[in-house]
Amino acid sequence: MKLKYTFCALAISAAPFSWAHDHHWSYESPDQWGEINADFATCKNGQNQSPIDIRSAVNGQLQPLAVKYNAKQKSIVNNGHTVQINVQDGDDIKVDDETFTLRQFHFHTPAENMINGESFPLEVHFVHSSAQGGLAVMGVMFKPGAVNPTLEAILRSVPAKVNEEKRLNKPLDLSSLKPVNKQYYRYSGSLTTPPCTEGVRWLVMKDAVYASPAQIASFEKILGEHGNSRPVQTLNGRVIVE
Ligand SMILES: [Zn+2]
Repeated sequence: MKLKYTFCALAISAAPFSWAHDHHWSYESPDQWGEINADFATCKNGQNQSPIDIRSAVNGQLQPLAVKYNAKQKSIVNNGHTVQINVQDGDDIKVDDETFTLRQFHFHTPAENMINGESFPLEVHFVHSSAQGGLAVMGVMFKPGAVNPTLEAILRSVPAKVNEEKRLNKPLDLSSLKPVNKQYYRYSGSLTTPPCTEGVRWLVMKDAVYASPAQIASFEKILGEHGNSRPVQTLNGRVIVE
């Protein structure tokens, strides 16, 4: 599996179709993922699972996250689990002196992580991987409000058919997917989809960005009646740093 490139979205065209069939999972019963297959056992037995409710963060004096995304987007797909935009290599972030390159970003409705008990209607995950095989995910929450121009461009481009990958010829301006305030929470977690692999560095921005109620409703419609959000998992003594 090209796990490090596909992350929360395993059924993109890179994955063999039979694989997706043999390991069928859905958002109807996320508490059952660990029973589907031995490969998914971490979904049940893992002690560092995502998402979480981010509370009682410890002051680790994290510096604002320097993120500048300029890379060209390659394609957009609704893979049946999420709407995902695959990008060309070129945008890096540094975490623990390790370089992580942006591979793709995708959406969850409702949001997966919570912040101090607050849940949000939509969350975007920017998925990065390192040459050493590490994963770092930046999460950004959406609040209902003004129309988000980046989301508008994305919603216009989503292919009508599931698993139809459409090339993006015009670059998307990602600036309205990132809050102005670059303060964030950090914790150690997992993939939020099977196989729920742990060791993922989670960076969740403190401030939300806006999406209009109509845009949020569009994502809800595309992603189906059960949404695509795994419930929050127990912290098991993990420390959240801010
Ligand atoms: Zn995700």
